[in-house]
Amino acid sequence: MHDFEAVIGLEIHVELSTASKIFCSCPTTFGAEVNTQCCPVCLGLPGSLPAMNRKAVEYTVKTGLALNCRIAQHTWFDRKNYFYPDLPKAYQVSQQDAPLCTGGCLEIPMGEKGTKKVGINRVHLEEEVGKSLHAGETIIDAVYSLLDYNRAGIPLIEIVTEPDIRSAEEAQVFLESLRNIVRYIEVSDCKMQEGSLRCDANISLRPKGSTVFGTKTEIKNLNSFRAVRRALEYEIKRQAGVLKDGLAVEAETRHWDEQKGITIAMRSKEHASYYRCFADPNLVPLDLAAEWIGQMEAELPELPGARRQRFIDGYGLPEYDAQVLTSSKEMADFFEEVVKGYNDPKTVSNWIMTDILRHVKDQDEETEGIPLAPASLVELLQLIEQGTINRNQAKEIVLPEMFEDGKSPRQIVKEKGLEQISDTSQLEGVIASVLEANPDVVQDYLGGREKVMGFLVGQVLKETKGKANPRLVNEMIREKLKQ
Ligand SMILES: [Zn+2]
Repeated sequence: MHDFEAVIGLEIHVELSTASKIFCSCPTTFGAEVNTQCCPVCLGLPGSLPAMNRKAVEYTVKTGLALNCRIAQHTWFDRKNYFYPDLPKAYQVSQQDAPLCTGGCLEIPMGEKGTKKVGINRVHLEEEVGKSLHAGETIIDAVYSLLDYNRAGIPLIEIVTEPDIRSAEEAQVFLESLRNIVRYIEVSDCKMQEGSLRCDANISLRPKGSTVFGTKTEIKNLNSFRAVRRALEYEIKRQAGVLKDGLAVEAETRHWDEQKGITIAMRSKEHASYYRCFADPNLVPLDLAAEWIGQMEAELPELPGARRQRFIDGYGLPEYDAQVLTSSKEMADFFEEVVKGYNDPKTVSNWIMTDILRHVKDQDEETEGIPLAPASLVELLQLIEQGTINRNQAKEIVLPEMFEDGKSPRQIVKEKGLEQISDTSQLEGVIASVLEANPDVVQDYLGGREKVMGFLVGQVLKETKGKANPRLVNEMIREKLKQ
């Protein structure tokens, strides 16, 4: 039996976060009442004429530049003709033959395996279609469907990778890295749960070592990173089973069923010729000046790769820390804000990567960023440094409370009565009684067994319910036994 290798390519749709639609001035706000953000242009009523949104072109070019693509100076838009209820004009304006951006690549981090380059075939600009709302559990058993055209005409980019991805894990990492970059350059919010980032996956198997492509299937309805990974893992197993039985994989579109955890055949794949594409006669071709493209490039912010390197060189962080911290813009911004107030980068990094990330992960997968003010982490770290609370209290009591109700660390310490006793007069009595109650241990200590100090300090902490400042207690006992 052969061992198979998976060959995966992704097609990612990203809604651009322009204020208005691609060809009209309708707003693009998510969650508005259905069919309240439409006009004759985005509904394709006879006689209406489109006017290109300049920002949409800018955002597409910036995305292409961030993905190391070549930017075409002369391009145009095509009509992709097909009939579907969510497409009011019965054609979608897209770029079939002259995409704005081609031939790029994205390097993704694969942990100990180093990095991997995934080719970007193209990034093109098109218009979003409307949204069907199916009355039923799934599209397949829906009794009827309703249509909302608020979304129709929102600018959309399609990013198509080369078939360079070899596993479900790589696909997930690629998608996470891509989303990170798109968010860094602020051209989309990339909220998968709101559909502003969607992914389809093409996958085929071939015997290991072969350079010929097998027959591929396309998986639709991948609404989360987890879905992408699970669907591809499932499809790799399914296709391997088909091939091992000596059968042929059908070229078809398959729907990912999240509940059942399986892919289901939907329809045979249509050929590109089915769309009868031709240049849209209502839109003028785009001619982009080289200086203007240069200006777009100059406007790009620092990208994740460059920021990672700066975290290593500038803050002296290990590569791993820099990788984790720059894996989202929000987290990297948070880190830099905290370091401004508490200048110990490695300590700040440790707190973010362990305790803070654990709390963030306990929340919804789609929650973005860290729901804490950088200033409150600064305050927490200062409270530890000043000896007001110890690290354990900070991690186990104060931090969870900060996530829970957003109170400031100082307030929590006060309300919970956590302040360490750093007042020698309060501690003297307790220390005296502990020493008195443990004469044998005191003798041991005086006889040279320094290790028993831990026990004595522990007794004082126990008596004060953990509130005594251990460093201070240690010093005071030493002092007392010298006498
Ligand atoms: Zn409109």
